Amino acid sequence: MSSRKKAVVLISGGLDSATIMAFARSEGYELHGISFDYGQRHHFELQAAEKVCAANNVASHVVFPVDTAIFRGSALTNDIDVPHNRSDDEMSGSIPVTYVPARNTIFLSIALGLAESLGAHDLFIGVNAVDYSGYPDCRPEFVAAFEAMANLATKAGVEGQKIKVHAPLITMTKAQIIQRGVELGVDYSLTHSCYDPSPDGISCGECDSCLLRLKGFADAGAIDPIAYQN
Ligand SMILES: [Zn+2]
Repeated sequence: MSSRKKAVVLISGGLDSATIMAFARSEGYELHGISFDYGQRHHFELQAAEKVCAANNVASHVVFPVDTAIFRGSALTNDIDVPHNRSDDEMSGSIPVTYVPARNTIFLSIALGLAESLGAHDLFIGVNAVDYSGYPDCRPEFVAAFEAMANLATKAGVEGQKIKVHAPLITMTKAQIIQRGVELGVDYSLTHSCYDPSPDGISCGECDSCLLRLKGFADAGAIDPIAYQN
């Protein structure tokens, strides 16, 4: 049995999660990936998650199915148009229609269960509050509150094996995340960010997620290795 400390890493297949997985690997953890199949229209990200996990030699990778019925009213899971070509002001003006109800609370709770089952006390999540301030469950106060709850909610926490939720990207800009990822050797060609890809998985280049990704690469002085429709 490995003596390395185990970490559970939430891996969506996007740029931030690929960076966080490389970060956890660089810290020497034995990696256990968890992804969620929640009926997202950009299900190509699950294939990306698989590739990112393989590239990081994970010890295990679970794709957990979540019934879409609990995620109504989001453009990511329903027949609601994903906004295209929004300005920075429009993106930061209000919580976007791509918000998925309580997503990170649900995902982190399931990841916490997996972590305690595995004897892992460290969870890694690639949430980021700077370039995408619209999602309430991507804020530092949310992560701190979840960590406090996790330590009240688990046998491990109560017995003094503190559960830690690592979110080191949370105050970084997209450009800083990409620069860190490049240093860590992340292969961003494996990742998928687009909310509204073509039927064969080509990114649109116009949704909020594509625009933030493209701006991040431009600001980082790096080339985005994936293809775009536009
Ligand atoms: Zn897109």
